[in-house]
Amino acid sequence: MPTIPTQAGTVFSFSAEQQQQLYLIIKHHAGILPSSDVATLCQQHDQPVDAILRACLPIAAQFAVAPISQFFVGAIVCGLDSQGEQHFYFGANVEFAQQALSLVVHAEQSAINNAWLNGAKKIIKIAISDAPCGYCRQFMNELADAQSFDILLPKQQFKLADLLPYAFGPNDLGNPYSLFNPAPQQHQFVATAELDKILLSCALSAYVPYSENYSAVKISTFANGDFYGRYAENAAYSPSLSPLQSAISQLHLAGLAMTKDVVKGIELVQTQGKENQLMVSQAVLASYTDLPALQSISLAVKPVAI
Ligand SMILES: [Zn+2]
Repeated sequence: MPTIPTQAGTVFSFSAEQQQQLYLIIKHHAGILPSSDVATLCQQHDQPVDAILRACLPIAAQFAVAPISQFFVGAIVCGLDSQGEQHFYFGANVEFAQQALSLVVHAEQSAINNAWLNGAKKIIKIAISDAPCGYCRQFMNELADAQSFDILLPKQQFKLADLLPYAFGPNDLGNPYSLFNPAPQQHQFVATAELDKILLSCALSAYVPYSENYSAVKISTFANGDFYGRYAENAAYSPSLSPLQSAISQLHLAGLAMTKDVVKGIELVQTQGKENQLMVSQAVLASYTDLPALQSISLAVKPVAI
């Protein structure tokens, strides 16, 4: 398809056909547009990264599951991996029919969670299809790069400090760490021989400075592998992202649904004595019918031997 030069003052966008092609690529990568594809798009369309990022927002919104609001939000983190490669990590809102609105996953949480779970080390930009709500501004304030990354809306650009002045954050609770800059791993689970090592590793790398409930969820599928989520806490507590919602968001970013034809099993691992995820997980799962029962496991932790 020939490239049409963008006229000054107009906003670059993909055609419906290009959007559909990109949707399939992103779905194939479970919600990620790899750096090589980002570079190719910039070159093909003779556009800077920001324009490509913004043009991808309608595609991100296609992953939204919004049975209550019918308001489909897309968000994309432009982040660097450990090699310094720049990938797009997609996110979209997830709502749970007939459950409390406070359980929903916001698009910004979904994109940040996606980047966090899939190896991003530094956030450069976050593009959002609509202005971020107060809850998401607070969620973003937990990030290590909160002072530096750009927030791109379709026609505006901000720093988080512009949108969240006089902020409350981790330091106010005496927490010197942040999401993407966690405390060194100091714990390990006791007696785990028969359990999935990826799930345990996921739980131990949860960001839980406030409750210390190292926790994670695995959603196993019949034909599409396993999806993991882990707990990401927030200094304001309420915007914390629970491990089940984290995993469900990942499943949707692969274009899958929470149905009995897809989901084979759901496993929750928590830290013995610190558990706080069982009831909230059951509330979320009550939104669905005919899914396998939640398997909940509590494990003792001990300090890593030095
Ligand atoms: Zn929000």
